[in-house]
Amino acid sequence: LPAIRLLGLDVADATAETALNWICSRIRSGTPTRIAFLNAHCANVAAADAGYRRAIATASALLPDGSGVAIAARMQGQRLSANLNGTDLVPALCGRLAHEGRSVFLLGAAPGVAEAAAAALQARHPGLIIAGTAHGFFTPEQEDEVIRTVNNSGADVLLTALGVPAQDVFLERNVGRLRPCVAIGVGALFDFLAE
Ligand code: UDP
Repeated sequence: LPAIRLLGLDVADATAETALNWICSRIRSGTPTRIAFLNAHCANVAAADAGYRRAIATASALLPDGSGVAIAARMQGQRLSANLNGTDLVPALCGRLAHEGRSVFLLGAAPGVAEAAAAALQARHPGLIIAGTAHGFFTPEQEDEVIRTVNNSGADVLLTALGVPAQDVFLERNVGRLRPCVAIGVGALFDFLAE
């Protein structure tokens, strides 16, 4: 994806349509893809947490989320093509996945929330294939088992809602062994969808 340099990071500069086309083409070609969102809070956390900063800096795409990032771009005389916040982009992606017969795994949030979020996504996009769900309150010792569950589900896309910075660090740490083609850190999206 085209990107602009912002806060020392390459931030995607594309319309939602272009971003969705790009994600779907990566799934079709089986290209491993890790996606993170950058909002003002993330930028603050990244300034203080080198591990998190590395995790988002090495993502396949870092998508601009919210007005703080747009303002930061304008302050250096640039203009981002779109606000690619997860609240809009991820449900739109699920519409594409439903259309293309691809499956999604929802990992994260309190017990029961991922299931409710999955039901909300399916209500919006009939035909969306939910490969599985799991809550996000597991110990480091349970991480291997969580990875196995995700991998055995056969999901094409993994949505991870463990909060910032945990979700993006989790995805980077497990990049070599997570089987879903696309993995995305989605913050509090499941709580939002489950409401
Ligand atoms: N969460 C989780 N496991 C944890 C901590 C948080 O699954 O160990 C979930 C939490 O339930 C929520 C999501 O991560 O659904 C986002 O959490 P939060 O709002 O704290 O983070 P942020 O909005 O900053 O990403």
